Amino acid sequence: HAKKSGRNTYAFYDDALTINANHKLRLAVELRQCVQNNELALYYQPQVDLVTGQIIGVEALLRWHHPERGLLSPIHFIEVAEERSIIHDITRWVVETGCQQLKAWHDAGAPISMAVNISPRNLADVTFVQVVAEALDKTGADPRFLELEITENTLIENQANALRVLEQLREKGVGIAIDDFGTGYSSMAYLKRYPISKLKIDRHFIKDIQSQSPDEEEVAIVSAMIAMADSLGIGVVAEGIETLHQQAILHELGCTFGQGYLYRRPAPAADIGELLGVEND
Ligand code: C2E
Ligand code: MG
Ligand code: MG
Ligand code: MG
Repeated sequence: HAKKSGRNTYAFYDDALTINANHKLRLAVELRQCVQNNELALYYQPQVDLVTGQIIGVEALLRWHHPERGLLSPIHFIEVAEERSIIHDITRWVVETGCQQLKAWHDAGAPISMAVNISPRNLADVTFVQVVAEALDKTGADPRFLELEITENTLIENQANALRVLEQLREKGVGIAIDDFGTGYSSMAYLKRYPISKLKIDRHFIKDIQSQSPDEEEVAIVSAMIAMADSLGIGVVAEGIETLHQQAILHELGCTFGQGYLYRRPAPAADIGELLGVEND
């Protein structure tokens, strides 16, 4: 450690940066190969109707089967992929694979929706609408059951292109969900300007309402977000529901949909197919 080696904090910080830079460089080299090496996989997590308990859709969550480090969550590599523009290939693979699975589940008799996560970089890309259109075309998936998840700040960062891209996608019937809602800087004005179909309340707000005697302020914040979605006439999903108590409060507050470990952790397509009661190919 820095103290024991007698180095000052700056030297220590420098070392950390170098290690970090080397690590990133290596990660980037490996990432460039991950699509063609068939190392990517999608896991799926159910979204449920809080009134009926039925599974109404799934969110596709990316995983990387790293040859040495095992199964990696995107929190370990998406940032590097974005910095090196590898994100475009990855997103194309994610959208296409998600659409393929959506089509397979619909054909098997499960009319659920499929949400996929999009990076802010994708909305700055003028060819992105084409990428989605091609995936839909190629797979035959129904665009009305596809939903793209973007974070709030994506809208503010890409003002010029984002509105056009999102409008074109909505015209095709594709849904747009605001992910991690409440952690960014969007205002009611932003939400009204963009063709948004769903808000996903960030799990940190859901965590805050979990105590047995819920702090009224925390509940009020979640309640206000639900009211905001209602007044915009769009759906609302609570992320990160882990307890029956959280589920009960959210149901009481009029939240329509929920997602979280209480229902199911993200799992491979075969497991989710079983849950949906459909045959796996
Ligand atoms: P997200 O889109 O907000 O996805 C929800 C994350 O919360 C997932 O983490 C999920 O496994 C986790 N989660 C679900 N239920 C619970 C719960 O009850 N409790 C807790 N503590 N966590 C829960 P994951 O899979 O590690 O993904 C992390 C983030 O990586 C995602 O957050 C999303 O921003 C990003 N991501 C995932 N897949 C993709 C992708 O295909 N493309 C891009 N660009 N980003 C992706
Ligand atoms: Mg998401
Ligand atoms: Mg989220
Ligand atoms: Mg997130």
